[in-house]
Amino acid sequence: MSLFSTVEMAPRDPILGLNEQFAADTNPAKVNLGVGVYYDDNGKLPLLKCVVEAERQMLEAPKARGYLPIDGIAAYDKAVQGLVFGADSDVVTGGRVATVQAIGGTGGLKIGADFLKKVNPDATVLISDPSWENHRALFSNAGFPVGTYPYYDAENRGINFAGMLAAIDAAPAGTVVLLHACCHNPTGYDITGEQWDQVIASIKARNLVAFLDMAYQGFGDGIAEDGAVIGKFVAAGLDFFVSTSFSKSFSLYGERVGALSVVCASKEEATRVLSQLKIAIRTNYSNPPTHGAQIVATVLTTPALRTMWEDELAAMRVRIKEMRTLLVEKLTAAGVQGDLSYIVRQKGMFSYSGLNKDQMVRLRGEFGVYGVDSGRICVAALNTKNIGYVADAIVKVM
Ligand code: PMP
Repeated sequence: MSLFSTVEMAPRDPILGLNEQFAADTNPAKVNLGVGVYYDDNGKLPLLKCVVEAERQMLEAPKARGYLPIDGIAAYDKAVQGLVFGADSDVVTGGRVATVQAIGGTGGLKIGADFLKKVNPDATVLISDPSWENHRALFSNAGFPVGTYPYYDAENRGINFAGMLAAIDAAPAGTVVLLHACCHNPTGYDITGEQWDQVIASIKARNLVAFLDMAYQGFGDGIAEDGAVIGKFVAAGLDFFVSTSFSKSFSLYGERVGALSVVCASKEEATRVLSQLKIAIRTNYSNPPTHGAQIVATVLTTPALRTMWEDELAAMRVRIKEMRTLLVEKLTAAGVQGDLSYIVRQKGMFSYSGLNKDQMVRLRGEFGVYGVDSGRICVAALNTKNIGYVADAIVKVM
């Protein structure tokens, strides 16, 4: 018997599996709406001008590539804090935030999960139902039981907020509550500011641990607007976690640029927390890579590049919103009855279309339009050339 003879075949990642199926599809009109990636109006992955310019500057003053400190580039960590909390925020100026560079938003979640397992080993983690599937896997691989709180309300095309709040209210002290800071993946529905206040009050009253996943800052209503929720947690005086991803907002998917920030009660506590985050990093991958974080640090700290980035991010956000409006127009023109305003109400790259699995399968098989079986489509992959075809296909399977 060989060492691996009993190794079971792991299930395929559902979304990456879709990509393979899409690549093999010979339909010339095929459209991939399964991905979680922003494409421009020509269907191309953008290379942001601010990134090109930062790389040009980096090339002009080339640097040798020694190991980075375990927690990454100091200027990068500082810039992340400024973006997430505001550079003048009390928690930042008071040294109460421990921030580490991480390998994408996923790396931030993983480092946070490993650290939490040490400080809060008996906790359960609650994720939204549904959530980004990797949330469950990341936290269960870190050793946590993972449960869910109600989130999507299919009937009312929105959020079951009463159910969400009741589940949080019923959670035992120490429970880790994973929350999407903005642009909920996969549904596209975000809770309102007043609802955040209620969630925060419940987390505080019950002594729960909030872990905010911020993978789409700037894709909802704007960088500051999307970040406002962080300020609410700070104002409530909570200790909490924030993972950051620049994969989408800088279109730097493959560079794996992200971060983890932990807000602590004091500067001294933050110093101890940082030392433990470093252990988690050291024992996972020793220290982070240089290139992507150097790009982001350069852009965020160079005023002209920062403005360029904010404009480019705004253009992505506006284009997604235009695609939402256009999709509603096309569907309505094609005779779809009923209220489609939910498509415009949703935020970020995704739309829970309300289509069922059979309809999604038909979209793929008959039209080469690829979305996730849950009905999730990536609005950020629609463009003025493919949207008419997609809308027609949707109408035909409805
Ligand atoms: N969280 C959510 C909600 C996401 O959608 C994603 C990316 N799809 C991530 C985290 C991970 O981001 P990254 O690619 O930077 O690891």
